[in-house]
Amino acid sequence: MMPAGDEKQRRAGATDAESALKFLGTLRTTDSGIFWRYSLDVDKRLENLFWYDRTSRYDYSVFGDVLGFDATYGRNKYKCPLVIFSGVEHHMRTVVFGCAILSNESKASYVWLLRSFLEAMKGKQPKSVTTDGDLAMKSAVSIVFPDAHHRLCSWHLLRNATVRVGRPGFLRKFHLCLMGDLEVDEFETIWTDNVADHELEDHLWIVEMYAKKHSWSNAHIRGKFFAGLKMTSRCEALNMQLEKFIHNGYNLREFVEHFQHYLEFMRRRELVADYKFAYGEPVVKTKLEAIEQFAATVYTREVFKLFREVLMLASNVRVVSTKRTSACVLFEVAMYCKQRSWAVSWAEEDDEFSCSCQWMESFGLPCVHMVGVLVYLNMTTIPKGLILDRWAKRTKQPRAPCDKTRVGEIPDAAYMSMHAAMLDDCRELVSLSCWFFEDYVDVKTRLAKERQSLRDKHRQRLGVPEEASRVSVRDPMRARYKGCGRRVVTS
Ligand SMILES: [Zn+2]
Repeated sequence: MMPAGDEKQRRAGATDAESALKFLGTLRTTDSGIFWRYSLDVDKRLENLFWYDRTSRYDYSVFGDVLGFDATYGRNKYKCPLVIFSGVEHHMRTVVFGCAILSNESKASYVWLLRSFLEAMKGKQPKSVTTDGDLAMKSAVSIVFPDAHHRLCSWHLLRNATVRVGRPGFLRKFHLCLMGDLEVDEFETIWTDNVADHELEDHLWIVEMYAKKHSWSNAHIRGKFFAGLKMTSRCEALNMQLEKFIHNGYNLREFVEHFQHYLEFMRRRELVADYKFAYGEPVVKTKLEAIEQFAATVYTREVFKLFREVLMLASNVRVVSTKRTSACVLFEVAMYCKQRSWAVSWAEEDDEFSCSCQWMESFGLPCVHMVGVLVYLNMTTIPKGLILDRWAKRTKQPRAPCDKTRVGEIPDAAYMSMHAAMLDDCRELVSLSCWFFEDYVDVKTRLAKERQSLRDKHRQRLGVPEEASRVSVRDPMRARYKGCGRRVVTS
């Protein structure tokens, strides 16, 4: 039997879940690439809802080599977990690939979600996935993204180390094991000594963490690409921003609408950064002027700053020996006053470089050892193979003309300036028309007509069919959630 609340809502018209789905349908008149998928439980209640728009999919096609997600609670009146898929864009900022509301955090829900995500993204698998360590999430990642390297978010690990052990001496060394530029044997020595010093040999969490070291220790994940997305704390920052747009009591329809506003806000910031740094290069600071200037023309400003730090250190690189083989030239390099050496190889014919430190494979930027060799070889540019598209300035600039994307579907600078000008006009219109009730009624009626006519026009242009007959979807149950706002995680 239908509960009284649902019955009342049914009599009044659509349920909240139906309104949210209908709202996504209306977005199709401005974005033919909007996609959503939902599942229902046996009582025809909305169980899971996942959606993304054309820009998210485009962003994933460019920046989807690394993926991070976690679940937060309490952002909607049903207290259902919210999952945001995110990554890192070329200005090193967080970019959103999609969003989902789940009724629970079971393995089945996550498998459903990741499969929907993968289908939406045309089967493109990420190289690495960062999560907070939830077991259901982890197991779904291994089923749907079998080739991706799963890593644990370092922010959550440090927080858990503080909660579970909490001794400052231990935490300092734990941090070193997590983030330090260590070799595997160095890690083992520091870890064993640290555990022994604090008599933690039988501590359950410590035993568990050691078994999972391949998911978090820098020494063990060397060479796995992650583009700097070590932490879902980026997700934390993202959730803090989201608070400005979304109130906890929002129903589904309100949530979906305000989430789209939030995406618009983030994308506007990215466009501003693209525009701001498109012209003019930063002032050259190192003595290696030519290569620094070259880097400034190819990398975005934030990535260039990282490269420049590497370039500054490159003067400390000593080439200890060189050896020519049939395939390449091998350089043994060491840092000034340091014992440890690294092997840089250069396949001259293809201009391909690699280094035993594997920083390039992890982060996508040449390491200090390679740059030291470039300088040693008097190179004034960075070889093509060392410039990843995802860090390049032009990575999101004019798409191929065969792309059928309409102006405005993936907002560019022209679209955004029209948008801003129109917003200014609308603000004035709102102020003026609200002074007198008759003006308010008159303008509101005319706007409604105008809006409907534009929707119809867009629908025709995009060939979007009229809305299908309404599907019957009941609202989700209020979730019994594990924590207040943040989940208590297992690792
Ligand atoms: Zn290196």
